[in-house]
Amino acid sequence: MKFAIFGDIHANLEALDAVLQDAAEHDCTHYVCIGDIVGYNANPHECLEVVRELGCPVVKGNHDEEASLDTDLVGLNPLAEQSMRWTRDNLTEEDKEYLRDLKMVRQVRDYTVVHATLDTPSGWSYVTNKFDAMASFSYQYTPLCFFGHTHTPVTYIKGTAVEVDRAQVVDVEIGKKYFVNVGSVGQPRDGDPRPSYCIYDMGGQRIVNRRIEYDRAKAQGKIRDAGLPEMLAERLDLGK
Ligand code: ZN
Repeated sequence: MKFAIFGDIHANLEALDAVLQDAAEHDCTHYVCIGDIVGYNANPHECLEVVRELGCPVVKGNHDEEASLDTDLVGLNPLAEQSMRWTRDNLTEEDKEYLRDLKMVRQVRDYTVVHATLDTPSGWSYVTNKFDAMASFSYQYTPLCFFGHTHTPVTYIKGTAVEVDRAQVVDVEIGKKYFVNVGSVGQPRDGDPRPSYCIYDMGGQRIVNRRIEYDRAKAQGKIRDAGLPEMLAERLDLGK
């Protein structure tokens, strides 16, 4: 049984379509979304439709939460504020209700999924080093947990100590714990502009991170046509 585990789609429909096509070509039969379906890019409603159509487990991201609420946007940086205002205006009430009802943490088969951290899932802090990862490991009760939020694929492995593994293929060993960042579908930030997601082969106990090509120009054209900040289109070229 192979799971495609993906998130930080951020309303990039072209990237989402490409990832789902690649997953199907690699025999994935199950899908799991680690959140941030909306925000930044130009197709929030359409991406929500695609994810809902999959009928798969989904956890809530910080942009999903922000977009589903009516709260003041003061305090965000101008870029985030402008795109969040646009996102709220381009979601239906039903979309917002769906986002509001998402859970923070879920267990799927033998693994856990969360958007940001396991120690305080609703605090939206970032796991960027092994010390951050250790805090999550204290609350990880399954051998594997998949997460996102930093838009950078990486695996933290806890044996006697915590190691950082950036290999594309990770074989799961008994007795160790794995905290796996699947990277971002719609706005990668590790300098590689290609969408990122993971395939988890449960039978073979193997995790593979995949980077794929997509129609970036089309996604950028939509951002410009929508009147969203130019920077949001440009950063898709940089992978930042
Ligand atoms: Zn995100």
